[in-house]
Amino acid sequence: MKKSLLVLSSLFLIITSASAQTDSVVMRKIFDEALVNGQCYQNLHYLCKNIGQRLSGSANAQKAVDWGKKLMEGYGFDKVFLQEVMVPHWERGVKEQGYIIDGAKKIPVPICALGMAVATPANGITASVVEVHSLAEVAELGEKVIKGKIVFYNRPFDPKFIETGTAYGTAGDQRRAGPSMAAKYGAVGVIVRSLTEANDDYPHTGTTQYTDDAPKIPAAAISTKAADKLSAMLKLRKFPQAKFFFKQSCRLLPDAKSYNVVGEITGTENPNKFITVGGHLDSWDLAEGAHDDGTGVMQSVEVLRIFKALGWKPKNSIRAVLFMNEENGTKGGLKYAELAAQNKEQHIAAIESDEGGFTPRGFSFEGLTADKIKSINKNYKALFEPYEADRLVIGGSGSDVGPLKVTMPGVTLIGFRPDSQRYFDIHHTPNDVFENVNKRELELGAAAIASLVYLIDQHGL
Ligand SMILES: [Zn+2]
Repeated sequence: MKKSLLVLSSLFLIITSASAQTDSVVMRKIFDEALVNGQCYQNLHYLCKNIGQRLSGSANAQKAVDWGKKLMEGYGFDKVFLQEVMVPHWERGVKEQGYIIDGAKKIPVPICALGMAVATPANGITASVVEVHSLAEVAELGEKVIKGKIVFYNRPFDPKFIETGTAYGTAGDQRRAGPSMAAKYGAVGVIVRSLTEANDDYPHTGTTQYTDDAPKIPAAAISTKAADKLSAMLKLRKFPQAKFFFKQSCRLLPDAKSYNVVGEITGTENPNKFITVGGHLDSWDLAEGAHDDGTGVMQSVEVLRIFKALGWKPKNSIRAVLFMNEENGTKGGLKYAELAAQNKEQHIAAIESDEGGFTPRGFSFEGLTADKIKSINKNYKALFEPYEADRLVIGGSGSDVGPLKVTMPGVTLIGFRPDSQRYFDIHHTPNDVFENVNKRELELGAAAIASLVYLIDQHGL
């Protein structure tokens, strides 16, 4: 190597290590602010206890919109505004009833209607049960076996996956597509084993997606304990002796007007370039939407609050987006992406926090090449190591930022990845309450996200 080249390259090393040093100092400040003066936990408390469940189209969802806007205005962000969007308005109706009917015995079991499902007739449905473990099995059994029956999808979570989100993904077809598949072969109703590995009596709701090529039949989730009981009885007695009864009165109302809530710190150099961080403001109706996704929403607001508290002025505009309607339509995510394109807002990156407010482990980057993720690790991994949030991997981002892929080519989509072991114990259940969120875990997550936003703003990816 020539001497001049050697001098130049060592100069470069000094500069890069100086910037790494600055970065680590800034990150330390971000974490200190989140852990010492953090406000996301108290904000989450307000959202859960003073507003509570906030399913799209409900009065509570509107309350959450109004409150979210006021909260961010109170923090003095440069811009706070709403994005109007029409959302599905589904209501659960009166509490569902489910029984295993064993001869003259009626054994009550915990069930809940799947989101977007239709009601049973007013006096419920009683039918023999066919237990299956896959959609393909329904097709194999065919109309001869399925017609007139209640199809019971009972494939459990696969415990071999280390990240529980993968188990959720692979078991989820039963809930999403199971009802329409069963209806094609003449089923009168569907019962789905709750999507969880927890063995308890909480039924887990979640959206089902009816297809146009089959009649819409009522569908409900059953708790894992009750699913095991029903399965055991079917094995003992063989159908058609054991029957199932369920009754639900849910309904889909006309679409309702709602909003995404957006807060922004405007960039000093590139006001029209954006780094977005978001979660969803709507929640299922069975609890308080604490982990799903009150935590993601409050972390997103906290990211901007931390920057403001530290007096840090980003080069690019930083946005916190409280998306509406992730759970049963993703209309808010679609609207955000549509408006971003329409307003010609260039998005550099969009980070979503929607996997619970648990201990941060890192981030997953959607669709990056192996080389790109290698260079991200080279630049940033060491900075996240002291905070134990240094897993920077290729993977999914989230359903609310997802639509940006289509309207903003070149945007990097990122998923915040907290520890996943306990999320599906409470996900979409009556147990998703504030008390199940840990203050420090929530704050560490907010700080990790703020750090990544800071690094992307300063150095890009
Ligand atoms: Zn969610």
